[in-house]
Amino acid sequence: MSRRGLLLGGLAVAAAATGVAGTSNAWGAEPDVIDCDAWGARPNSDVVPVWNQRPVKILVHHTATPNVTDLSRGAGERLARGIQNFHMDQRGWLDSGQHFTISRGGYVLEGRHRSLEVLRIGERQVEGAHCTGQNVVAVGIENEGTYTAADPPAVLWNRLRDLCAYICQQYGIDPTEIFGHRDFKDTACPGDVLYGRLPQLRTEVAGVLGQHVSRRIAAKESWPLLRVADRGPAVLAAQHLLREVGMTGVAADGTFDRRTADAVRRFQTVHRTEEVNGMIGGESWPLLVRPVRPGADGEAGRAVRALLASGAPARPAESLVGAEDWRRLLSAPTSLAG
Ligand SMILES: [Zn+2]
Repeated sequence: MSRRGLLLGGLAVAAAATGVAGTSNAWGAEPDVIDCDAWGARPNSDVVPVWNQRPVKILVHHTATPNVTDLSRGAGERLARGIQNFHMDQRGWLDSGQHFTISRGGYVLEGRHRSLEVLRIGERQVEGAHCTGQNVVAVGIENEGTYTAADPPAVLWNRLRDLCAYICQQYGIDPTEIFGHRDFKDTACPGDVLYGRLPQLRTEVAGVLGQHVSRRIAAKESWPLLRVADRGPAVLAAQHLLREVGMTGVAADGTFDRRTADAVRRFQTVHRTEEVNGMIGGESWPLLVRPVRPGADGEAGRAVRALLASGAPARPAESLVGAEDWRRLLSAPTSLAG
């Protein structure tokens, strides 16, 4: 513990020293961004709302479209037009939902009108439509492709890092405040691979800005995304919590089977979540957990004990486990495995 503390302290001192020496380079320069006019956006169908406040976080998405091999600027512009058409014609939105788009070829494109102009000033926030509940506090970035199993191309990754650094700098956002869509919704977005690289993204963005973030801080506690075929203590805890709210047909056996997914769908329907898809992510977890003492009788107490038994940090039996504690306990099995 003390050795680790000393090591981290030493790194922090080294980073601070580097920061002093290289202050003039510790800066997120504005990346090349193809604005709406340049890629041929349609006019927005209604006034784009602009809020008199700064966003406080960045949300990373993937477009869940094919991992195309056409890396040209033209392909990037077609992508931006395709998303805008989809959002306006199918979703009925006034414009593209995301603030920025990055193509597989590494082209950064403005999404919703005014996003670039407002970012350059760094005082206000264009209201997006990329994640309900986050649209006036988070900048949304769509990354072209599907990153459930594949890695994003290096050129896309580098532009994502540079764009995030510029956004963090313009708005004074801490690089640790970079999230994935799944942190707030029951969705696989931005894909397991890209989501798994968010700690690296936070670290690299901090580096561009001349800051240092420890591995532990960069890893961040997060609600796990659970789906069919997942196994382990988090699944077991979820099953106990579903039983707690009356889904007694769910077997508490630590395997996320079809019956568990059906129960999650019923739970999502009752709570009117955005998605009814049988996945437990950042929207359902906060609705599912409840304050409980680890020594308590009943299913919620069993859920806590399932996590504690799996090696999460021990807690006194009488201390109340609140929402933040639940998130910490649930993210622990993942971080132990990683
Ligand atoms: Zn998304």
